[in-house]
Amino acid sequence: MLGFSSLFDAHFHLFSTKNVKNVEINAEFCQKIGGGCSCGVSKDDFFTQKAFIQQNNLSSKIKLCYGIHPWYGDFSQVDFLELLLKGDEICAVGETGFDLFTPELKEKLEIQKICWNAQLELAEKYNKPVVIHCRKGLKFVVADSKKLCRLPAVVFHGFGGNVQEAQMLMSKIPQSYFSFAFKRKMKMTPREYVKQVLSRYDI
Ligand SMILES: [Zn+2]
Repeated sequence: MLGFSSLFDAHFHLFSTKNVKNVEINAEFCQKIGGGCSCGVSKDDFFTQKAFIQQNNLSSKIKLCYGIHPWYGDFSQVDFLELLLKGDEICAVGETGFDLFTPELKEKLEIQKICWNAQLELAEKYNKPVVIHCRKGLKFVVADSKKLCRLPAVVFHGFGGNVQEAQMLMSKIPQSYFSFAFKRKMKMTPREYVKQVLSRYDI
């Protein structure tokens, strides 16, 4: 049987936005799961996470990744990202991707493309997986399937697509992985949620 402690959470944020004060909750969560990858979205966020992991002896469990999130589209972070890659400080590049969910985000498409291209280049140069955030922008991801195929792994976080889209992605990018977003406000346990997702995909 699948135990909660055997799960690896491929995408979460230890400290970004509203979770910033919940140190106890974060520590408790990290002890429960088998492992996880926490995505940094700014320099401050990254260093806060790094310190938390060191203070709580979680380095064997919690890995860090870093990326220019499509919400922020801050190209000036590219140099910092490469610094982290050079220093082998992160296990993956991300979140990167496309978010065209709102009119405001649609206006950022060009900068999202620029940040995406730069991050794919860096992921290939340093042979790292990417963690993809994608809402309403799957065609831009698919257009770069050949580049994505050259990476060790491609993780679609919070995947909201249907079975056909998942199959299409796996046929174009065989090393695709999918994670599904669990939120505390859902009226079910994480275990029940995982079961529900697996049944949705007939697994
Ligand atoms: Zn995220």
